[in-house]
Amino acid sequence: MSEQTLSFEAEVARLLDIVANALYSNKEIFLRELISNASDACDRLRYEALTQPALTEGDGDFHVTLERDSRAKTLSVCDNGIGMTRDELIANLGTIARSGTAAFVEGLAQEAGAADEDSGKKRKAKDRPDVTQIGQFGVGFYSAFMVAEQVEVFSRRAGEAQGWRWASEGKGSYSVAESDEAPPRGTRIVLHLKKEAKDFLEPARLREVVRTYSDHIAIPIRLAPDKEDEATETLNQASALWTRSKSEISDEQYREFYHHVGHGFDEPWLRLHFKAEGMLEYTGLLFIPSSKPFDLFHPDRKHRVKLYVKRVFITDDCKDLVPSYLRFLTGVVDTEDLPLNISREMLQDNPLVRKIREAVVKRVLTELKKKAEKAPEDYVTFWNAFGSVLKEGLYEDPNQNERLLPLCRFHSTAGPELAGLADYVGRMKDGQEAIYTISGDELETLRRSPQLEGFAARGVEVLLLTDPVDEFWTQSVGSFEGKPFKSATRGAAELDKIAGAEADEGKAEDAQSETDQAGIDALLAFVRLTLRDEVKDVRASDRLTESPVCLVADEGDMDIHLERMLKQHRQLDHEVKRILEVNPKHSLIRRLTERIGQDGAGSDLEEVARMLLDQARILEGEPLPDPAAYAKRVAMLVERGLGA
Ligand code: ADP
Ligand code: MG
Repeated sequence: MSEQTLSFEAEVARLLDIVANALYSNKEIFLRELISNASDACDRLRYEALTQPALTEGDGDFHVTLERDSRAKTLSVCDNGIGMTRDELIANLGTIARSGTAAFVEGLAQEAGAADEDSGKKRKAKDRPDVTQIGQFGVGFYSAFMVAEQVEVFSRRAGEAQGWRWASEGKGSYSVAESDEAPPRGTRIVLHLKKEAKDFLEPARLREVVRTYSDHIAIPIRLAPDKEDEATETLNQASALWTRSKSEISDEQYREFYHHVGHGFDEPWLRLHFKAEGMLEYTGLLFIPSSKPFDLFHPDRKHRVKLYVKRVFITDDCKDLVPSYLRFLTGVVDTEDLPLNISREMLQDNPLVRKIREAVVKRVLTELKKKAEKAPEDYVTFWNAFGSVLKEGLYEDPNQNERLLPLCRFHSTAGPELAGLADYVGRMKDGQEAIYTISGDELETLRRSPQLEGFAARGVEVLLLTDPVDEFWTQSVGSFEGKPFKSATRGAAELDKIAGAEADEGKAEDAQSETDQAGIDALLAFVRLTLRDEVKDVRASDRLTESPVCLVADEGDMDIHLERMLKQHRQLDHEVKRILEVNPKHSLIRRLTERIGQDGAGSDLEEVARMLLDQARILEGEPLPDPAAYAKRVAMLVERGLGA
């Protein structure tokens, strides 16, 4: 096949433009990315060779070699890994596979733009990505164009006769052609260095960069001699990092390993390096990132824990190894107990894998518990990033609830700090039986909810739930330490049973209350009749102190917020009728009671009843079924009130 010129996907072209032209100080990260790819390529071939030994025949010794040519001004990164076919070259080095990369490119473009505008003056938005994160977005290869004006990729897929040359100047197109210069197996990437990147021809520079970023790579990274009298030098320790003893590993080495294995470029928030011996033998080196990966809630997001068997990479896609509610974990699990020739299919429903998962879950949750107890402030950082994922475990893996519930933190009416459930239980009032919760989208709106007035007046704490997952676990978990979870917007509040209620004004007015009761009953009956098509019931409220009315769900009915969520997602097509609660102590309601007593119900009282229902809907954040009618009604009533 003769040479073909192809265009980069638009997104790639844009990325290349930014990468090649912007001035970045961390250019050396290109080497980390190319070495990381070379090492992955060797891992993949080692795995394929388990079932097809012929693939590595004659050369089972995997390595990465850096070759310099100071006359041609080229640096080459060579590996004897899996290699790429023509189609793979086109798919891997011409398009962007992963979702989320578009946002990265956009962020980089803004960053570059900002740097041009106020040249020099730093105006770096903290959440904007920078080019050193390129590997995280699955486009690490393109970082080669930071230092090279031309990149040639010679590659031969293991087991194939034909080799290929891919070449590009990073300007919108690339070429692919058959090539005799490809290595016998694997890939050689030749970088034609830009003038300002000539320092990457110096052994000292290469040594430093490899030690900084790639020391943890498990296969040797060699520096080939440029002149005859030089010897080949190995630049890294070339043993799997997780097999070394903890005392021999520096924080920097751990961090670089984390970057390589997890494609994350933040600091790890937690590191777990453990070795289990006995019945089940495995080593784990796991990390929890300090910031949220961009794709945490993407449906395709999986954990980033790679499975190794006796140091041989098996797969980074073993779903059963880590449960989905720990999908923020990255790292490695290496076991002695699985057979080396295990296929990816055999890993499904594998009892050994399940045992390892149980052990991993236990270790991670135990460690989180320690953090939560010993470093509560630091724990909050974790919780804010990953709490909503961890909570998925409450309904996905109910067996772990005893471990998971104490790890949960919530906003609460007790104060601005996050509260744990044990804190909450410790603060419960005498006679209070339930853990009260209220859920909604916005914290501040929740804090102002009329349904909470009665709780606030009695000093009863309510947890404010703003995560969509809260709707699911509160239903399935049921209780914590024998205290049931109860929605503050559903059923009767039963606040009178709770000690502290005596602080309320209620008692002194007992004498008067009997006559009041008859009036209130008449008003409720009237409103019930007027709104009979729209609400399930109308009743006097003990949860209101300041607002005249609010809506609540009936005991057995769906919570109001959940209903709204389901409707938004078109999962629910019928109405659930609500209960309108009326505050007998509110001056407006008192006036209405008097009016009913004096004049009986008239048509303007019907208007008032409808207006009150609409107000309750507005407070609840519900759309009004007929906003025009509401506006007309209010105008009419205000006009009358003004004595027109
Ligand atoms: P990522 O490594 O995150 O997938 P890259 O942009 O670094 O993203 O690489 C893109 C893809 O190109 C890799 O997934 C791999 O399939 C392929 N690739 C890159 N370098 C090599 C190599 N040296 N050998 C084999 N395949 C490679
Ligand atoms: Mg890569």
